[in-house]
Amino acid sequence: MKICVLPGDGIGPEIIAQAVRVLSSLDLKFELEEALLGGAAVDASGTPYPEATQKLAREADAVLLGAVGGPQWDTLAREIRPERGLLGIRKDLNLFANLRPAILYPELANASTLKPEVVAGLDILIIRELTGDIYFGQPRGIREENGERVGFNTMVYSESEIRRIGHVAFAAARKRDKRVCSVDKMNVLECTQLWRDVMIEVAKDYPDVELSHMLVDNAAMQLVKAPKQFDVMVTGNMFGDILSDEASMLTGSIGMLPSASLDDKQKGLYEPSHGSAPDIAGQGIANPLATILSVAMMLRYTFGLEEQALRIEAAVKKVLAQGFRTGDIYERGTSRVGTREMGDAVLAAL
Ligand code: NAD
Repeated sequence: MKICVLPGDGIGPEIIAQAVRVLSSLDLKFELEEALLGGAAVDASGTPYPEATQKLAREADAVLLGAVGGPQWDTLAREIRPERGLLGIRKDLNLFANLRPAILYPELANASTLKPEVVAGLDILIIRELTGDIYFGQPRGIREENGERVGFNTMVYSESEIRRIGHVAFAAARKRDKRVCSVDKMNVLECTQLWRDVMIEVAKDYPDVELSHMLVDNAAMQLVKAPKQFDVMVTGNMFGDILSDEASMLTGSIGMLPSASLDDKQKGLYEPSHGSAPDIAGQGIANPLATILSVAMMLRYTFGLEEQALRIEAAVKKVLAQGFRTGDIYERGTSRVGTREMGDAVLAAL
């Protein structure tokens, strides 16, 4: 089992160090190899996704990533900005399915801006299609028309693209509460009418999973009104971009949320949902739990090691119950710890 480790920029190396300690403490045989991505790669080689990283990422069974980006690279030409490295690796590895759980641990219910009774115990999984839709559709651009500029993009999904993300959603729901809510805008957009039709076809292969549909505007409202009604939500790239950020904010603690991006052979890139947090980088205070929970997702989805994944998740729950908190989730009466101490606590709980 070969894992490509990409610490990236900002707090990336700090949080990855703790995730690697957790992974290495399990009694499993992994080969870990590090490479550069993002700003660190630009500084070293002039490109955010260098060839050596491409080779390693392609050979590996899974990729564990910290985060990329930072203000020092924001003025570079767009093609060599750190974020291009991220888009590059996603595309290169054909990672079409993005899985983002939004879980609110009971101990952190006060971190949410919503009332505790609305969010306590929240456990939803948002599945976003990642390689299609209006973000990649052609034609696109800005042109002159009748003496003024006109901007245009194309929303496009093929049946096969919808079908493969549908299968990911139904398979994931089978391991959970067996409910899929597909989100579209079929009342206005033909492309998403096809989305709905294909989801109904895919559902026939999963008679044990309940399929429902929701228009995206209603889904945005329901997520803040009654988020616990959902189990798995599946949607396209653009709607998923927005809804998954909305869902992560329900928990109020972005430092807690992992993510997985998968191809069709269970190869995956695993990373925290947050960015490189340049404002706190190098201070040893970042929350490593989202990255540690990303390791759990890696064990579950790429390596099929459910038991080990559950062990890590249980250890994280235990350190929260013991009162350990990094600054982002700190509240009075709990113990404030740094990145490494949080790693120590997880190791002890394991
Ligand atoms: P961010 O997620 O990095 O930070 C937002 C806020 O949350 C900051 O105040 C930060 O300190 C805090 N935060 C984030 N993660 C934390 C953690 N683990 N522990 C404690 N606090 C944490 O988002 P941003 O500030 O909008 O972006 C910063 C940089 O990250 C930008 O260059 C952006 O392009 C990049 N970015 C990268 C990714 C990625 O690598 N996948 C995702 C989003 C943003």
